[in-house]
Amino acid sequence: MTLWEASLPELEAWMLQRGQPGYRARQVWNWVWTKGQPDPWAMSDLPKALREALAAEFSAPRLVLLHRTESQDGTQKFLWQMPGGGTVETVWIPHEGRHTVCVSSQVGCSLNCRFCATGQLGLERQLTGYEILLQVYTLRHELGLPITHVVFMGMGEPLLNYSAVMQAFEGLVHRMGFSPRRITFSTVGIPKGIRRLAQRTEPFELAFSLHSAIPEKRRALIPLAAHIPLDEIREALIDYCVRRFDWVTLEYVLLDGVNDGEEDAEALRAFVRKPLQAKVNLIEYNPVPGLPFRPSQRTRAFQKKLLQQGLLATVRRSRGADIAAGCGQLARHVAK
Ligand code: SF4
Repeated sequence: MTLWEASLPELEAWMLQRGQPGYRARQVWNWVWTKGQPDPWAMSDLPKALREALAAEFSAPRLVLLHRTESQDGTQKFLWQMPGGGTVETVWIPHEGRHTVCVSSQVGCSLNCRFCATGQLGLERQLTGYEILLQVYTLRHELGLPITHVVFMGMGEPLLNYSAVMQAFEGLVHRMGFSPRRITFSTVGIPKGIRRLAQRTEPFELAFSLHSAIPEKRRALIPLAAHIPLDEIREALIDYCVRRFDWVTLEYVLLDGVNDGEEDAEALRAFVRKPLQAKVNLIEYNPVPGLPFRPSQRTRAFQKKLLQQGLLATVRRSRGADIAAGCGQLARHVAK
């Protein structure tokens, strides 16, 4: 077992089996999760023989930083070699007093959304829970970056790696001390996963990547939409809102001439009708080399139309686009 996976009761049982007092487990826990020191040899308040036994029993695999790039706006992107193989990217975004980490949940992605660089990679493998958690841990404890919010919006579809993502979520909350309110899951629309999230009681946030409320257009952008009707996703989102007395955020990347017209705004309004409780987050598109899409020239007009229709609609300015760290740009290219 790794130290990342061991629970406090498991550590206590392990200590008791070796005739050690239970409080030793809490000491180890504090070293790992509060002080950010997972090396048993550095746990200076433990007896030497115990440190030796811990090192023999528990491994603590680490992420290896392969590349770090910083944007003109302060956003930083990290390329890691993962302990279980493969490379993924994590983005750290400082903005207006928030420090948000965007974590990856899969190596690559199987869904091939047409506007997304990650989708062009295909899926190499699922990340484990601790590999997802370590992206945040390493930024905080090894690189010393402040972190206030975590979003599951990096490489991969989080709800297609549900158990590992929930392990990482629980680690963020119960091991690293994050409030669930500051954690957001983002999905391109996996009804089963949304319904599972709906049954949880923690007050996290959910974002659904809609990108078009017109089914044919959405199918052209998101191949998965050919297999999962928008109505089925909407029903799952309603279940989420009703069970949790909550809202969802609809993510909408504005693509020039594709989904930014009057009919698109009207379809969006029809999608956001009661009992669905949703606000719309319009996202500026970051061009990906080799893909045919361009950022919309109608962002403000589209937002105005939504507001006139009575929707809550905000615009998210692109962050880190110059280092390919923006939404949909994570493709493990190393900026020169
Ligand atoms: S947008 Fe998300 S779900 Fe779609 S291909 Fe990219 S990473 Fe995968």
